[in-house]
Amino acid sequence: MKVITDYIKSLFLLELMKGMSVTGRYLFKKKFTVQYPEERAPMSPRFRGLHAQRRYENGEERCIACKLCEATCPALAITIEAEPREDGSRRTTRYDIDLFKCIFCGYCQESCPVDAIVETRVYEYHFEDRESAVMTKAKLLAVGEKHEAQIAADIQAQARYR
Ligand code: SF4
Ligand code: SF4
Repeated sequence: MKVITDYIKSLFLLELMKGMSVTGRYLFKKKFTVQYPEERAPMSPRFRGLHAQRRYENGEERCIACKLCEATCPALAITIEAEPREDGSRRTTRYDIDLFKCIFCGYCQESCPVDAIVETRVYEYHFEDRESAVMTKAKLLAVGEKHEAQIAADIQAQARYR
């Protein structure tokens, strides 16, 4: 019976008609294509883009080298070395994130007690060699300084869910 049905379907091109009817239905509807980069899709304040390290308003680094982010990172992408400063406070001497290992899960941001390490809305970047895929402390702080206003606004927007 199935053979006969399939034969009739192929004889009258029913599958093709079905496909064309879907095309016809959407032909004059509003298009969803975004003309990137002139147009941008809406972005959540929880977007997980390029990482950044933040400073306090007085310029002091937020990171206190507690290493919670390093311990929680499932991809083992974070490497931290730390030493006490002359004033007794503890700060990192090395803070690297290997973006080739990172899976952008956001656990580092979630685990940080002082909102030092964050993931920004920045997603337009590229690497040309293995070395440049490692976000060093200096690079992370530079991203943080450039995007602090947006980062602070996004953290504020998420505050009630944390
Ligand atoms: S986003 Fe996830 S994988 Fe990437 S550094 Fe943070 S904890 Fe590790
Ligand atoms: S970024 Fe946050 S969680 Fe990671 S070492 Fe610094 S203070 Fe601790």
